[in-house]
Amino acid sequence: MIITLKQNAAETEVSRLRSELEEKGFIIHPVEGARYNILGLIGDTASLDARQIESLDFVDKVTRIQEPYKKANRKFHPDDSVINVGGALIGGGHFAVMAGPCSVETPEQVLETAKACKEAGATILRGGAFKPRTSPYSFQGMGPEGLELLELAKKETGLPIVSEVMDISQLQYFDNVDMLQIGARNMQNFTLLKEVGKLNKPVLLKRGLSATYEEWLMAAEYIMSEGNEQVVLCERGIRTFETKTRNTLDVTAIPMMHELSHLPIIMDPSHAAGMSRMVRPLSLASVGGGADGLMIEVHNDPSKALCDGPQALRPDQFTSLMKEVIALRQALVECTK
Ligand code: PEP
Ligand code: MN
Repeated sequence: MIITLKQNAAETEVSRLRSELEEKGFIIHPVEGARYNILGLIGDTASLDARQIESLDFVDKVTRIQEPYKKANRKFHPDDSVINVGGALIGGGHFAVMAGPCSVETPEQVLETAKACKEAGATILRGGAFKPRTSPYSFQGMGPEGLELLELAKKETGLPIVSEVMDISQLQYFDNVDMLQIGARNMQNFTLLKEVGKLNKPVLLKRGLSATYEEWLMAAEYIMSEGNEQVVLCERGIRTFETKTRNTLDVTAIPMMHELSHLPIIMDPSHAAGMSRMVRPLSLASVGGGADGLMIEVHNDPSKALCDGPQALRPDQFTSLMKEVIALRQALVECTK
């Protein structure tokens, strides 16, 4: 971290700041320049609040030269992380497809959809039992009973399952769930992040609606710093000025996250556009962009879905999409040979 001092900075104030920082264990390298004097800080500055130092009236600016995330940072972990979700691998060349309904509704719905997803080549079954809905009057999910139906579908198909946990009090029901999903609206629920960080279970961390890359990685850091390093990032579209689509899929997140972090990143084109007809092109764009997987909402009868029907694919549409996804992945491997 570099602290640039204002030209008229009083010596007494600067030395008070220096001793405060030294007491915290930092080594300070002062540099006197023609126009500015700077203090170079050596040590782990992750716990320092740069804005607080910047607010001192004799400080011109504070520049971080190292990112505040450590565990998620590729600099300290050059190899791709590979996350194992009940046998399905994600990252480091392993591609995962999580598919299934937005919400678990009935035994028939979840079983029929799960079987079709498995047959088409999905590697993980998704389904929400606790649903974060914008309106309190909308269907809120089946709760623990929904998770039981998901487990039944897991037994029938052999697919590992991922489901969203919205609150610590719900974690007691997730013992047989292979991967915990932290939804976009909870990306900065730090209490929840810390709690799932104490478990030995993969976590799917969705990007918040307006989260920057750094905020997203800091959310991952919350989980990882508690000991659980099995984190998969999921880009699900962000809020922009565009109103035609539900959200805007940020494809740039793929190469950027691969550069900044070793964690795998998967793409969710269903929640991004909010329209089933956009799922195919956005999925292919994601594969082309180097994503480590996809999360796609599939419903055996989208017109009757209790949640997110307009963005759900029918099983036949998912089946043809999977063929294209597999073909595109193969073509990419061929052309890089
Ligand atoms: C979901 O996966 O059904 C969901 C609610 O996702 P998000 O948190 O991305 O809106
Ligand atoms: Mn949904």
